[in-house]
Amino acid sequence: MTDEKPESRPAANFIEDIINADLAAGKNGGRVHTRFPPEPNGYLHIGHAKSICLNFGTAAKYGGKCNLRFDDTNPTAEDVEYVDSIAEDVRWLGFQWHGEALYASDYFQKIYECAEHLVREGKAYVCDLTAEQTSEYRGNFYKSGKDSPFRSRTVEENLDLFRRMRAGEFADGSRVLRAKIDMQHPNLNMRDPPLYRIKKAHHHRTGDAWCIYPMYDYAHPISDALEGITHSICTLEFEDHRPLYDWCIQNLPLPYQPRQIEFARLNLTYTLMSKRRLLQLVNEKLVSSWNDPRMPTLSGLRRRGYTPEAIRAFAERVGVAKNDSTVDVGLLEFAIREDLEKRAPRALAVLRPLKVAIDNYPEGQVDWFEAPNHPDDPSLGTRKIPFSKVVYIEQDDFMENPPKKWFRLSPGAEIRLRYACLIRCTDIVKNDKGEVVELHCTWDPASRGGDAPDGRRVKGTSHWVSAAHAVKATVRLYDRLFTVENPGGGDKDFRSTLNPASLETLTDARIEPSLAEAAPGARFQFERLGYFCADAVDSKPGTPAFNRTVQLKDGWSKLVKAGKP
Ligand code: ATP
Ligand code: MG
Repeated sequence: MTDEKPESRPAANFIEDIINADLAAGKNGGRVHTRFPPEPNGYLHIGHAKSICLNFGTAAKYGGKCNLRFDDTNPTAEDVEYVDSIAEDVRWLGFQWHGEALYASDYFQKIYECAEHLVREGKAYVCDLTAEQTSEYRGNFYKSGKDSPFRSRTVEENLDLFRRMRAGEFADGSRVLRAKIDMQHPNLNMRDPPLYRIKKAHHHRTGDAWCIYPMYDYAHPISDALEGITHSICTLEFEDHRPLYDWCIQNLPLPYQPRQIEFARLNLTYTLMSKRRLLQLVNEKLVSSWNDPRMPTLSGLRRRGYTPEAIRAFAERVGVAKNDSTVDVGLLEFAIREDLEKRAPRALAVLRPLKVAIDNYPEGQVDWFEAPNHPDDPSLGTRKIPFSKVVYIEQDDFMENPPKKWFRLSPGAEIRLRYACLIRCTDIVKNDKGEVVELHCTWDPASRGGDAPDGRRVKGTSHWVSAAHAVKATVRLYDRLFTVENPGGGDKDFRSTLNPASLETLTDARIEPSLAEAAPGARFQFERLGYFCADAVDSKPGTPAFNRTVQLKDGWSKLVKAGKP
C-alpha cells in the first residue's frame, strides 16, 4: 500500500481522469461506486470481461465498491440459468461484488412510483398510438416529430389510465407510458420516449406481480441512483441516450446523482460478440453449448483452458478508449500463451502416433528417464518417463523422402527422443495402401539422457511416448470458429462464414502415463504441440480428454515486446 491519494495518481485512462476531477471537486463525498449490469439473457462473453475488469478494477483502484446488478427488466428473454452462469463467471474472473447480487426487478415498485411522480408533475402521459403510428409521429434524423394526440391528456386521466395499465385492464402493446419531453428535440431518444410497456409475461423473479415493465433507458438511471452509483460506465452505443439518463436523474426525487460515462466496446477479429447471435449458434446446434470451447463466452474460454489471469491481462493491455476499434484475436491468444508459458507443467503427448520398434533394445526392459516439468522453473520439479522397446512418435516427424534441411526422422537419419536417447531409422513398414505404418530403429545405448558421448551433432528432437506405458486419450484441436475477420458484419449471414474445420477430434492420441489422472481443468504444455487442458466436462481419470487451448507459435510476442499493440 502507498500513502498516495488516488486523485494524485496519474490516470490510466479517460475514465480515471473524470473520476479524479470529480474527487478533486468534492463530488459524491469522495466515494467511487460502480456497477456491472448484465442482462440475464445469455452467457457472458469476452466483451463483458472488459466491462467487468473496468468496473471492478476501477472501484478497487479507488478503494470503492462495485455492485453486480442483473438488469432484468425484459421478462421474456431472461432465465435463472443465465443469472447463475453470470455470477459464476464474474467470480471466476477474480472479482467479488459489494454485498448481495442485486436485481433491477427489486426496484420495480420504486420505479413504478417514480413514473407516477412524473405523471403527477405533468412529465409523462399515457399514449394509445399504435407502434407504426408512434414511429411515424417520431420523425427521424431529418424530420422533426409531431405531438401525439394523447399528449395533452390531463394528469388525472393519465394517472387513472396508468394505474389501470398496471392493473392489467389493457392488452399488450395497446398503450404505453411516455415521458413528455420534446417531439422536436434533435436527439430522437428525447422525443417522448416510452417509459413503460404492457407485457403480460411471467418474470423469473417477480412472477406474475407485474404486467407492465419499465424500459431499460428509464429503469437504469433509477437503479443506479437508488444504489448510490457514482460513475455508471457503459458502452458507446448509449452515448446518445445520456440526455435521457440525465433527464431521469434531474426530474425524479432520487437519493443520488450518478453520472454516465461511455467507453468503446471490445470487438475482436474472427469473433462474434453478441449474445443474441451466440444464442442462435447454441439453439441451432452449430456449437455444442454455451461453453463449447470455440465460443467467446467466458465459460467457453474457461473450458478451452484460458485462465482468469490471462483474460485480465488482456483487458488491461487492450485499455479503455473512446472510439470503436477492433482488436486482433491474436492478442488474446498471446495473453494466454504468455501466462501458461510461465506456469503450465510440460508433458509428452503424441497426437497422431507412428509406431517405432527399437530393434536393439532388450525385450521387457524399461528405462525411466528424468524430465523437468518446466525448463525455467525448477520449483515445478521433475518426473520420470518410461522408455521401452516400442515407442510412438508423431507421424509428422517422419518423412520417407524428405526435402533438404529436414532435421526430423527419415530413412537412415538419426534424431533425439527428448529426455531419452538417440535413435536411427533402419527400415520402414508400409500397409497395402503404401502408407508408412511402422518404423524400425536402433538406439545408441551410450546416448542415455539424449546426447552421444562422442559429441556428434544431432539436430532434430522429437517428442514420444512408450507404447506399453502410454495412455490413450481424446484430443480436440480447435481453429477459429469463423473464416472471416468480421463475421457479424457485411451482408452475409454470419452462419455462412462458420469454419467447417473449427474442431478436429483425435481419438487415438497417446499421452505419457503421468497425465492419465489429470484433474479436469488441469493445464499442460504438450511439448512442441501447444497448451492443453483436461476437459472439465468430458475428461475422467482413466479416459482423459484434452482441449488444445492455443498453439505454441505466434506472431505477437515480438510486437508486444516492442510495445506495438
Ligand atoms: P450483447 O450485445 O452481447 O448482447 P449487451 O451489451 O446487450 O451485450 P449486457 O448484458 O447489457 O449485454 O451487458 C452488460 C454490460 O457489459 C454492459 O454495461 C455493456 O455495455 C457491457 N458490454 C457488453 N458487450 C461489451 C463489449 N463487447 N465490450 C465491452 N463491454 C461490453
Ligand atoms: Mg444489453
